[in-house]
This record gives sequence, C-alpha cells and structure tokens, in this order.
Amino acid sequence: MGKNEFDVIVVGCGIAGLSAAVTAAQNGARVAVLERAPVEERGGNTRYTESFWRMKSADAVSDDFEERFAANAGGWPDPGIAKDAVLARESQPRVLRSLGMVDPNLVATLAEEAPMALQWLQTFGVKFDFLPTYFLSQSTTRMGPVGGGLALIEALGGYADERPDEISFYYETSARSLIMDDSVAVIGLKAMGPDNTPLDLFAPNVILACGGFQGNPEMLSRYIGPPSQFIRPVSRGGHYNRGEGVAMALDVGAAPCGDFGSFHAQPVDPRSLDVEPVVLTYAYGVLINDAGKRFTDEGPAMVDSTYEVVTRIIMGQRHGIAYAVFDAGLDDVENWPIAVRSRVPPLEADTLAGLAAEMDIDADEFRATIKAYNAACPVPDGFQPLQPDGLATQGVEPKKSNWARPIITPPFRAWPMICSNCFTFGGVKVDERARVINTEGDPIPGLYAAGEVVGLYYRVYTGATSVMRGAVTGRLAGRDATA
Ligand SMILES: Cc1cc2nc3c(=O)[nH]c(=O)nc-3n(C[C@H](O)[C@H](O)[C@H](O)COP(=O)(O)OP(=O)(O)OC[C@H]3O[C@@H](n4cnc5c(N)ncnc54)[C@H](O)[C@@H]3O)c2cc1C
Repeated sequence: MGKNEFDVIVVGCGIAGLSAAVTAAQNGARVAVLERAPVEERGGNTRYTESFWRMKSADAVSDDFEERFAANAGGWPDPGIAKDAVLARESQPRVLRSLGMVDPNLVATLAEEAPMALQWLQTFGVKFDFLPTYFLSQSTTRMGPVGGGLALIEALGGYADERPDEISFYYETSARSLIMDDSVAVIGLKAMGPDNTPLDLFAPNVILACGGFQGNPEMLSRYIGPPSQFIRPVSRGGHYNRGEGVAMALDVGAAPCGDFGSFHAQPVDPRSLDVEPVVLTYAYGVLINDAGKRFTDEGPAMVDSTYEVVTRIIMGQRHGIAYAVFDAGLDDVENWPIAVRSRVPPLEADTLAGLAAEMDIDADEFRATIKAYNAACPVPDGFQPLQPDGLATQGVEPKKSNWARPIITPPFRAWPMICSNCFTFGGVKVDERARVINTEGDPIPGLYAAGEVVGLYYRVYTGATSVMRGAVTGRLAGRDATA
C-alpha cells in the first residue's frame, strides 16, 4: 500500500469519526483520519458536549424514543409514498428510498444499536451514569459519560494514538472534494493542509464524519435565511464544522435528508465566554424583546421539551435578542442557578425603569408591557416550578400558559439571550449500514456518512440523540467499510 493509500479514509475526528476509525482499525483496516483542527482541539462539537444519551438504562433507549422521532419525521410527508416506509429498504419504491424524511428503519437501528455503542465505549474505560443536567426537571430519561464528550474523545483518540500503524491522523487538514472513478464509486479525496499544502488520499471507502454547516455563514444564510446572521455555534468546536461533508456528498449525487432550513437551537447569554452558557429559567419570568414587548408564551410546557421552539422565536426578533426578566420571585425556584450556565451576572436594578436602562430599551414601553402582564396573572396559588402548574395569564397576548406570577418585587433581574446553533439539521440520507443513498435510491459505492452529516431531524430535535447518532452511525460505517 502506498503512502497515501488506505483501506478507509475518515473525515472528522468527533464521536462519529473516531467511532468509525477505531471500529475499522479493530477490524484490521488501515485508516486515515483527516481533521481540520489542531490536535489539541480535535473533537469538534463532541469535545464540548456533556453528551447526554436518551437512554433509560445502559441496555435501552428512553421509552419515548421512537415516538419523538416519529412526531418529527418530516414536514408533511406524502402519505401515499410514506406508507411504504415500514417495508424493508430493498422492497421500498425508489422514490421513497431517496425521500427527505426520517426513515423508521434507521430510527429502529439507532434504538437497537445505541446500547451496544454505549457498552462498546465502556470497553475504552468510559463510565456512563444518570448525571445531573442543567434542566430543573425533565420529560425523558438521559444518561451521560462521566467527563462528557471530552472523555469520549480522549478514550477513543487515546486508543488511536497508540496505534499509529493502524490509524494515521492528518491534523489541520480539511477535506475539500471526493475523487470518483468512472463507475461512480468513491476512490479517495482531495484535501488541503496548512499553508495551502494540497493532499490527495486514496481508499475504496470514505466516511464523512465532519459535522454540519453551523460554522459556515454562507450555507447558513443560504439554507436558514437572513436571521442566521444573529446565531453562532454554541461551542468553539462548531466553528470547525463548515459543511464540506454535506456539500461533498450532495456534489456526487447524495439524497438530501434532514431539515435544511433548521438547526438545534439553544438559548444562550451572548456576553458569556462559558461553553454552552444557556439561560433556561425564562419560564419563571417573561421574555422581552428590544422593543420592550413580550412576544411568545414563555411557559408552554416543560422547558426541556420546548426551549428549542422558544429559542427560534428569539432568533426572529429584531437584532435576534431578547431578555429574560425576573423579580425576586425567581428565588422561590429551588436550585435555579443550575439552569443558568452563564457566569456573567445578570443586569439588575431596584426599579423597572432602572432595569430598562440597563437593557437599553424604552422604559415606558417596558413598564407598560409588565403592567399588562401583571394584570393578566392569576392569584399565584399553587406555583409548582418543576411541573406545568396551569398558572396561566388571562386576557393578555401572548398568553403565558404556566408559572405566570406578577413581576413586582425588586430586585429586578434580566439576562440577555440569543439563539445559538448547536448543529444544523440538513444532511444526507443513509441506510441502516450508514451508506450514503443517492437521489435514485441506491447506495453510492464506497461512500458513508456518520454523525451530523447524516440528515435525521425535522422540526424539533429529539434531545440527547446526536452523540449517540454519531457513535452508532460511525460504528455502522466502520463496520460496513471493513466487512
Ligand atoms: C455544548 C454542546 C452540548 C451538546 N449537548 C449534547 C447532548 O447532551 N447530547 C447530544 O446527543 N448531543 C449534544 N450536542 C450535540 C453533539 O455534541 C454533536 O452533534 C455531536 O457530538 C456531533 O458529533 P460529530 O462527530 O458528528 O461531529 P463533531 O463532534 O463536531 O466532529 C466533527 C469533526 O470534523 C472536523 N471537520 C469539519 N470539517 C472538516 C473537513 N472538511 N475536513 C476535516 N475535518 C473536518 C471538525 O474539526 C470536528 O473535529 C451538544 C453539542 C454542544 C456543542
């Protein structure tokens, strides 16, 4: 085998890429891994995540797993076509095999393989447990690795580092385009190293595991639209994910899948330097835009299942910003600080006018908004912060459905909030072996996708399933490429 020849080339070094590379090496393959970041920052989004998995035990996914995916399987798929999705892939009509909707067979594979992926990660010394989250209460079950995503990168990356004969890393090197042979099979790729050093690598199998396009403003604007100027990756790792994996696959005829106009949205404090500085207390106060007005129901249901929708509405406000405003009553919510991951202190004042000045918004407008909201609040009996308590406003628009209590007692506090982009939803269609499917419904020979490159989500992200998507699809790809 020549210096630039391998059995498998893996693009990206997060959970998807490392799961693929290590699985392929364990099956005896010689593997190349390309990574845009320097070695100290390898791991993309995975490096920064707490990495919760939607599991009820190490042996099973959560009870609501398939139901949540089914609820967000696509826009309104044509029932005449979608009805055949229950068939095995070989029996499905081609039009369905390449359709942009979540394939129930893939979801079933995820559910089946997730426990095996978790247990496989344990063999590298990673420990999983029911760890505390930043949600004050939860509507599902989540487990996570002790040490978060970084522990996964260190465990798999450490294993790979010890086997340089099996796995060669190319850091600060970005894949740019696929090399195909005449018969449309993938045979390698073209990459760019530091100082404009071109690199061509060859292998009969290429696994695209290089994340979404959250770090690419041009693709964000193209697919998500002008408000995307106000969003930014939730972590430093996301800046490295510039969409080449998705673009390279589409260029060779891959079927698009996943909601290209959407992404996993998280509400963060824009002032903070912290990783993932979420502000998830807003349901106990009101959300105010920079015109001084409320604009959405702050408490439609449990925060862990609704924050994404609320956050996208914040993105749509003027300048893409809002303020979560509270009075002293926030302190009635036990442990509320765990739901605010920004360590920057809130804006604070003893009067509403003073807080408006801190927020740099019109004080009269703000006071009028709070007055109308307060007048619409019910008698605050039966406030129950950890479950929907039915304390709903009456006679104000927009309505607040739960936890509505008047804002009257100083100190008044406000946290600015913007919408951040955890990862984009637009990707490519794969089958249960992680093979990339083309627009005719057939696998592209030699091409695999794993992790965020795989289109899996529409509408609302099924929380705590993206790291497991990476581990499962990475392992599927590594396995199939070496079968
Ligand atoms: C703060 C935070 C919290 C999160 N919390 C959770 C959670 O609790 N549960 C959950 O399931 N998910 C969570 N997520 C999402 C989840 O972490 C990611 O979606 C998942 O880890 C992505 O894995 P990946 O391997 O597909 O991509 P990544 O981990 O992002 O890895 C992609 C790699 O590809 C590299 N790369 C990109 N382009 C190229 C190129 N052209 N050439 C070479 N290399 C390239 C990047 O540098 C990066 O190392 C969170 C994410 C963040 C940031």
